[in-house]
Amino acid sequence: MTTPSAPDDGRTPRLPHPGTGRPFPSPVPPGTGWPDDPADATTPVAVDAASVVGLADPGAGLAELSARVSVCRACPRLVGWREQVAVEKRRAFAAEPYWGRPSTGFGDPQPRVLVVGLAPAANGANRTGRVFTGDRSGEWLFEALHAAGLATSSESRHAGDGLTLPGARIVPAVRCAPPGNAPTPAERDTCAPWLRAEATLVWPTVGSVVALGRFAWDAVLRLVRDSGGTVPRPVPRFGHAAESVLARPGGGRVVLVGSFHPSQQNTFTGRLTMPMLMAVLRRAAALATPDRVRGPVGDPPAGGASSGPPTDPEGSGGT
Ligand code: SF4
Repeated sequence: MTTPSAPDDGRTPRLPHPGTGRPFPSPVPPGTGWPDDPADATTPVAVDAASVVGLADPGAGLAELSARVSVCRACPRLVGWREQVAVEKRRAFAAEPYWGRPSTGFGDPQPRVLVVGLAPAANGANRTGRVFTGDRSGEWLFEALHAAGLATSSESRHAGDGLTLPGARIVPAVRCAPPGNAPTPAERDTCAPWLRAEATLVWPTVGSVVALGRFAWDAVLRLVRDSGGTVPRPVPRFGHAAESVLARPGGGRVVLVGSFHPSQQNTFTGRLTMPMLMAVLRRAAALATPDRVRGPVGDPPAGGASSGPPTDPEGSGGT
């Protein structure tokens, strides 16, 4: 459980961080000055599914939990992939250091709106160290969050750029970039305790959850069930703008809202447009006002329903 993260063995060149200019090897050793790095050399490292369960302790608090996530090495295939990509790099980013570690949640520690994605993109968050940052999906998401009043800028450039998400938090269901954006069921399950622990800490303020894609939708339903909440029967189906009222773990209700993932597969084809994404996030923000969060479980949200058109296959593109 305490095996160190990938050492800086001097085999990768130190390249300047795009924001600070400070040089880093790839992947980035914890505690070496990367902006917003929550970990240091003493942060305990999960090396298998059992140690994830042991370290994903909400009692540690959000900052320590993020630190532990950021050095996790429990899934050999994903650790190998994230570090291979970090070393080899995409040609366009050959002059940048790659984070090469898991993505933590990003945003407000007391969010009203929780946004759940799939997993980091290999050359996006796996490079920049911030979820949904450094790829086209993120460009769409942050523009829409800003339009909904949930981000201080429409752009997320890199860790340490000053961006904040007042009232919102973004979390990936799986914290490491998977080959082909496709984690295995075993990897998904190994990573789930990190999401459960983080959700446990933020549930008290969350009024709505936006699931970006079917994978995230299913992950939220599983999360709520496994955390002691209640999911309606029949199980709500994913769709863009679909809504379902769930009994939140610990009491109260939370409204799950679906959105097609802002992957290029969806945005290039027009399956998801910017107005569609903005509308979902504005709806989620409206559903999460304090009076609605306190409403009784089972109340249908005004203007919403427990399902909505259309459904379609998920287009994933990272996170
Ligand atoms: S996917 Fe999750 S559990 Fe697996 S190595 Fe990454 S952070 Fe750890």
